[in-house]
Amino acid sequence: MFVRTHLNSGLFGDKTYEGRIGNMGITEMPAARFEAKKHHLLPYVPHFRIPENELRDVYAGFEIASHTVSHMNMARCSEEERIRQVRDDVTALSGLFGQTVTGFAYPYGAGANVSRSALQAAGIRYARLATAPSQPSFRFPEDPLAMPLTCWHIAKKTFPCIEQFLMMKPGDDDLFFLMFAHGYEFDFGTKESNWEKLERICQTVSRQPDVICCSIGEAFRRHEKGE
Ligand SMILES: [Zn+2]
Repeated sequence: MFVRTHLNSGLFGDKTYEGRIGNMGITEMPAARFEAKKHHLLPYVPHFRIPENELRDVYAGFEIASHTVSHMNMARCSEEERIRQVRDDVTALSGLFGQTVTGFAYPYGAGANVSRSALQAAGIRYARLATAPSQPSFRFPEDPLAMPLTCWHIAKKTFPCIEQFLMMKPGDDDLFFLMFAHGYEFDFGTKESNWEKLERICQTVSRQPDVICCSIGEAFRRHEKGE
């Protein structure tokens, strides 16, 4: 598997609109409120989540990971709610896709410091933040439950960072972990959409024969087996 997707099992089929600035989604508005209001300060795009009966076709071949039941900010809820948000999402996604779910992404990148026991109780082994260090590191993260990105796809330094990674000595067990925010943000972009940029990134890394393109779960499995 090449790609991992993080899903909110309590929001399948929801219809909202997303206000954006440039490549960033800033605010979400329920469809009824958006349609009732005539003027909006931001440009909005429909954010119609995929209905449950289409999910298995859309995400065939993906590694499925959790993003909480309802896109909950883990830093702002009780321990009981954190446990429910992760456990119920993992249970729903495992049942729907027939996969063991071991990956997680923190909604809003928040709450890693208070979520460890809720994640472990649900069998989560890898959880990603939404931030990258100022200097890219290509080592496997010391704490898999608080994984930083190597580089965010919309950062200006994405391509220099990829070039630095590709120049490294073949054989080193290094990791480049890229993030592509939410599905509805793929068409965002001023000069180039996020989708076009992703294609350019894939073309760049695929020219290097010693680079293995895989989901983060598979990267960890290979790393642990010493492959
Ligand atoms: Zn999210």
